[in-house]
Amino acid sequence: MTEGVTAAADKSAGGREESREDGITPENTEFHCSRCSVCCRSLRVFGGLYDDLDDGTGTCRYLDQKAGLCTIYDKRPDKCRVREGYQTYGAGLSYEEYLRLTHEGCRKLRELWARKHHGEAGGETASDPRAS
Ligand code: SF4
Ligand code: SF4
Repeated sequence: MTEGVTAAADKSAGGREESREDGITPENTEFHCSRCSVCCRSLRVFGGLYDDLDDGTGTCRYLDQKAGLCTIYDKRPDKCRVREGYQTYGAGLSYEEYLRLTHEGCRKLRELWARKHHGEAGGETASDPRAS
């Protein structure tokens, strides 16, 4: 897991779907989030970027752990947002490339979670941590 672009972008959906048109990209360019909340439970893989949100266990203090949703979604930090993350971490990348890296980082993070917690290959089939 690289830090910066991919790491920040991994977190940007914050456990909720972020599929709105953002005005930067072609109309069919979206970030697809399954709301698994793995990123919000894996803050320590981001190299300290999210230390201010860490509840002491590597999970965000603002995550509703049972629901797996962000409790400050409308006011979440820019580093938890796709578009704002692109503005900060996307220098030199097209938004499409940034989204591709984001999706790839998300997939890898979910694979790591599945291996660590369930001994699975993970990816798109990673178990939902809310059911753990
Ligand atoms: S504030 Fe916390 S729970 Fe909300 S999106 Fe960011 S990391 Fe996730
Ligand atoms: S790990 Fe990916 S799919 Fe899961 S909540 Fe975070 S951005 Fe969404």
